[in-house]
Amino acid sequence: MQVELQSHGLRLETETAGASGRQGGAGPSDHKAVQVDGSTLMVPIYTAQSGESPYFATAPNEQGTATLYREGEPVSSISFPDPPAFYEHTTSDGVPMWKVAKLHSHNVLATTVLQNCIRYDDRDTACQFCAIGQSLEAQRTIAYKWPHHLAEVAEVAVAEDGVEQFVMTTGTPNTSDRGAKLLYESVAAVQEAVDLDIQVQCEPPDDFGWFERLHEAGADAIGMHMEAVEPKVRAEIMPGKAKVPVDYYMEAFADAVEVFGRGNVSTYILAGLGDSKEAIVSTSRELIDLGVYPFIVPFVPISGTPLENHSPPDDDFMASVLAPVGEMLVDAGMTSDTLDAGCAKCGACSTLRSFEEKARANRDR
Ligand code: SF4
Repeated sequence: MQVELQSHGLRLETETAGASGRQGGAGPSDHKAVQVDGSTLMVPIYTAQSGESPYFATAPNEQGTATLYREGEPVSSISFPDPPAFYEHTTSDGVPMWKVAKLHSHNVLATTVLQNCIRYDDRDTACQFCAIGQSLEAQRTIAYKWPHHLAEVAEVAVAEDGVEQFVMTTGTPNTSDRGAKLLYESVAAVQEAVDLDIQVQCEPPDDFGWFERLHEAGADAIGMHMEAVEPKVRAEIMPGKAKVPVDYYMEAFADAVEVFGRGNVSTYILAGLGDSKEAIVSTSRELIDLGVYPFIVPFVPISGTPLENHSPPDDDFMASVLAPVGEMLVDAGMTSDTLDAGCAKCGACSTLRSFEEKARANRDR
């Protein structure tokens, strides 16, 4: 059920208070955090496809719990986390904290440090799934989160909401470090204010010395996101980013693993963009052998992007990819629960962790 729910999304009887939802931004978006069967999942709510989903939830009761239906039949209860307390605060220079960072899942603070990207404004270079400019246009965020903004939000979110990790991504600036310097300054400021596990996410920089600097500043993990694995899919879906060849990612991964350790280097793979099952599984094999965690998520199109009407991957496709990769991760001793920080540790945007658990249970039988 979780695989299907995450691919198809959810229709709601009424819009819940759920400020844990997010629309627009970098990477997979238009999701809301829900709790089903003891797991917290990010589920598409605001997409075109979710309006056609077989899943429907009633309005939540006073405790925040609702009934989840599949094609009209009740299948489970579902709950929606309350908006976090830090959303009520403002920074020392008057920026509402909800514009600086969002709560993801139930315990992760997440921000896009630079809400712009050199590739975004040009159709010939922009990633077709990306909506990094939308939330800025709608004034749901600010263009640049200064280090002191991040430090102040982190302090409040840890104290009032029990946040356990901070995921910092960035649009790619027009500098050869690919945003590593901005992330370095951000991590250093947050670590000076509060002790928090941090993952940074950027494109591979020109100088791999940035991995050591980021680690020394206090980053526990790094994500460098391939998004798609086959050259023809990469060129079609993300013509600018595809100019950074897969081989360069592999070189950067190998170097980063030396610094952050196995599993604390990861990459997003968006299943459903056109890559074959075989290509995703064989690339994942290569990544795991290098010590890189392939965080495979179902591609969910964001409203307002060129791919907004792209069909989500079907459940059989997702299961046929996640099952073998879950087994490989168990074999490698590199499962989500062994990681220090980041999306792969949070796991709410993919059901890969549940496939790891199944693979482990099968072994223990
Ligand atoms: S997996 Fe990453 S993007 Fe998804 S909710 Fe967790 S921290 Fe956010």
